[in-house]
Amino acid sequence: MASRSITSLVPEMEEKAKRVKEYCKDKGVVILIYCTMRPLEEQAVLFRKSHDWKFIENKIIKLESRGFKFLADIIKNVGPQKQIKPVTNAAPGESFHAYGEAFDAVPLLSGKPMWKYNDYKIGWDTYAEALKENDLIWGGNFQKKFKDLPHAQLRVGSNPLKLYPSEVIKAILTENGLLNGDD
Ligand SMILES: [Zn+2]
Repeated sequence: MASRSITSLVPEMEEKAKRVKEYCKDKGVVILIYCTMRPLEEQAVLFRKSHDWKFIENKIIKLESRGFKFLADIIKNVGPQKQIKPVTNAAPGESFHAYGEAFDAVPLLSGKPMWKYNDYKIGWDTYAEALKENDLIWGGNFQKKFKDLPHAQLRVGSNPLKLYPSEVIKAILTENGLLNGDD
C-alpha cells in the first residue's frame, strides 16, 4: 500500500514536508499530504493499468537493455491489469515516490480536497509558493501533457533512471529496503 505518512520519507524530505504544511497554514491554506511512499509493486500495477500491452512490453525491453532487469521483472510479476484511463507514465523506479523523496498533496477547502486548479487557485498557488520556498520541485512545472499539480520532489529531473546508472539505483533501493533483491 502507498503510504501517506511523512515518516516514510527520507529525513530531508520529511522535514520539508512539515515546513510546507506550516507555510501554507500560516497563509490560511490547509493542505493534505495524501501520498508519500509508493512501493515499486504498486507503481507497476498503476503502470500496467495505464497502458496497453505493446507499450508495456516496449518498456520492459527498454529497461532490460539498460540494465534494469530487476525493475522489468516487477512489471512482469504483477501480471495483467485491467486497463483504465492513464494515471501514470512512470514505470517502477521512474518516480521519486519509490525512493521516499516525493509526496503528493492537495489543498482543502472546508475539509474537501480541491483537485482542480480553477476551483481553488489561491490554495494551489500557496502550495506552489511553499514548495518553491523550500527548494522543492513542483509537478505543476513539469513539461508534460498533463500537469501533476499535487506532486513535489527533492531533486531536479522527473526520472531517477535517467539520472543514475542501474548499480546506483539498485543500491539505493536495496539500502532503503525497497527492493526484495534476490542477488
Ligand atoms: Zn507524486
